[in-house]
Amino acid sequence: MYVLVVEDERNLADAICQILKNEGIKTDVTYDGMTALTLAKSGMYDAIVLDIMLPGMDGIEVVKSVRRSGVATPVLMLTARTSTSDKVTGLDAGADDYMTKPFEVEELLARLRALTRRTGDVLLEEATFGDLKLDLTTHDLSCGERSVHLSGKEFEVMRMLMSSNARVVSKQDLLTRVWGGGADASENSVEAYVSFLRKKMNHLHSVVQITTLRMLGYRLEVLE
Ligand code: CA
Repeated sequence: MYVLVVEDERNLADAICQILKNEGIKTDVTYDGMTALTLAKSGMYDAIVLDIMLPGMDGIEVVKSVRRSGVATPVLMLTARTSTSDKVTGLDAGADDYMTKPFEVEELLARLRALTRRTGDVLLEEATFGDLKLDLTTHDLSCGERSVHLSGKEFEVMRMLMSSNARVVSKQDLLTRVWGGGADASENSVEAYVSFLRKKMNHLHSVVQITTLRMLGYRLEVLE
């Protein structure tokens, strides 16, 4: 799981990240709304923990804008206030759940698990792009009648490219997300896995290709 944490109270933000890391969950953290919006729109997170009161742009505006851009990542809103109107505004804006601060660690984890499970069950059994379908349960990539199985890392790379929906994904993002930014990973690893995927897509006779953008990264493109 990969979670974006957005909270301007740095102590709380860092504490949430530490809790998630202890559970083996990868995190990115940001302390302001504008950066949160840019990161959230990448579509690369499994869930977003989003505070309402933020400098720059508040959490309500962030979630509205994220939803307008077509990104369906589950959002768990944090609010210091207990008024019902705040919660309703958040849910109306496109948040999936909310929690009132202060909260228990177990509650945060339980709600995140529930949100991501919901995504897995309802929204994301299958990812598609052009004539390609990626089964998120079996890790099979198919095009028409043809199908190939993807290895763990091939699957993660392809899922990230698909969820970015033709937007560029940088090698650095792939390294962080798929390899966890560990020392054993390098840009060569990314290139190798992209090459494996291209061979498999070729075998499928798909009209989709992985395009390399020099210095920027990769994106999916449909060949005319
Ligand atoms: Ca705040």
